[in-house]
This record gives sequence, structure tokens and C-alpha cells, in this order.
Amino acid sequence: MLEIKNLHARIAEDGTEILRGIDLVVKPGEVHAIMGPNGSGKSTLSYILAGKDDYEVTEGDIVYNGQSLLELAPDERAAAGVFLAFQYPIEIPGVATMTFLKTALNAQRKARGEEELSTPEFMKRVKDKAGELQITMDMLKRPLNVGFSGGEKKRAEILQMALLQPTLCVLDETDSGLDIDALKVVSDGVNRLRGPDRSFVVITHYQRLLDHIVPDVVHVLSKGRIVKTGGPDLALELEKNGYADFIDAAA
Ligand code: ADP
Ligand code: MG
Ligand code: MG
Repeated sequence: MLEIKNLHARIAEDGTEILRGIDLVVKPGEVHAIMGPNGSGKSTLSYILAGKDDYEVTEGDIVYNGQSLLELAPDERAAAGVFLAFQYPIEIPGVATMTFLKTALNAQRKARGEEELSTPEFMKRVKDKAGELQITMDMLKRPLNVGFSGGEKKRAEILQMALLQPTLCVLDETDSGLDIDALKVVSDGVNRLRGPDRSFVVITHYQRLLDHIVPDVVHVLSKGRIVKTGGPDLALELEKNGYADFIDAAA
């Protein structure tokens, strides 16, 4: 279970406060959507969950399965089962996607005291899951994200997620830059991973992703605070009326 308690955070470089007291509880198996206007702090929240050092937590805590994530390095968070899919996936020139995936999976296994996967075993796992995401072997030979289309980047992220089998998945704007077909492939990939032991925090500006990945709970983030929480209907309401009402409420 994820519990975010009174989380305040600022930009390390200039001290600007971005998150101003966030409270959130996500139980196993639940999918929570975080919606909000541009600049409300959605990506900042995902970076802080990942442990990016551009940000400082000044108050509050993030507890996952009884342990404070703030005390863990990014790789330790990954070993603890946390996976972040970023709005802007990083390019890794010179490293084939396949090699990157194998390294990531074996690093996780090592951190958990498990043996490395043999190459044939790894290949089998990749092929099965890549096929489901319409990822070709040719794409897996290319350097990670270099020259990938928006859709290819997002599908590569979901492939990584499917291989690592995290228990907490945070997806930041997974729908951005996707046409409707790619959105369907990516959403189906996420939905296949839904289960009683895995939670999702789906961050999105637009409602359309939530037509495909139907959340249990929807939160509206505005100016670094959750200003409204509701069911899936809240997302539909936002699509109809926009964020203006909530921005005023957070002022
Ligand atoms: P969202 O994802 O909701 O669009 P962000 O979390 O990206 O919002 O940004 C929230 C606010 O914090 C914005 O005003 C953004 O310009 C600012 N911000 C976030 N990260 C940084 C940073 N590293 N340096 C300077 N400003 C930042
Ligand atoms: Mg933004
Ligand atoms: Mg963002």
C-alpha cells in the first residue's frame, strides 16, 4: 500500500515550493488517476516518487509497504517494486533496447538476491510481452528511445513494466503524443498488468486515457494540492467543464 502524507516539496535549485501538502492512500489493486492543469505539480510528484534529486521534500512522508521511500535510493525503490513511466522517457544512445531491458531486469533480480536470467529465458519473456505490445525485434535492437516515435517510447515503457512486474506503477502522461491506435495498445498493456497485488497511479491531463484505463478513484491536483477526489465520473465532469472551478478553489 502507498501512503503519501502531507507531502511538501520544492525545487532544490531555487527553493520554489511546488507540492503543498499532498495526502493520498492507494491500496493494493487500486488504480488512482491524478488529473490537473499544466503546471499543477503532477510530474513533480512522479519525480519525487522516483527519487529524482532536483527536488527536496520539506515536510511529510511517502510510505510504501510500511517503509519510507524517501530513505531509499532510486534503484532501491525499483527493487522494492516501484516503477515510474515518465512523461519524457530518456534516450540512451549506444545501448540497444534489448540490452537495457536485460540489465534492468537483472539489476532488480540481483537487488532481490535472485539469480540472473539466462539469455534464452530472458529472450522468451521479452518475445512474449513484446508481441502483445506490437514491438518488433527490429525495434528492440535499436538504442532505447533514440528516434522512437511517441507511441514507440510509451510501448517500450510498458514493456519494461511488464518485464519488471512492479507492485506500484506510476504513469505520467502515458497518453501524450499517442494516436488512438497506440493509445489502445498501451492501455491494453496496462490493463493486462492490473491485478489484486498491483496498484497504479495514472497521471493525465486528459480524460481520454481513462476511457481505456478505468480508474477506481480520481483526484484533481491544482497548485500542488489535491483539491477534489471522486470516482470515474469526476474525470468526465472535468472533460466537460474544464479545470477552472478547481483552480479557483486552490487559489
Ligand atoms: P505538471 O506535470 O502538472 O504540468 P510540473 O510538475 O511539471 O507540472 O511543474 C509544476 C511547476 O513546477 C511548474 O510551474 C514548473 O515550471 C515548475 N517546475 C517543475 N520542475 C522544475 C524544475 N526542475 N525547475 C524549475 N521549475 C520547475
Ligand atoms: Mg506539464
Ligand atoms: Mg507533467
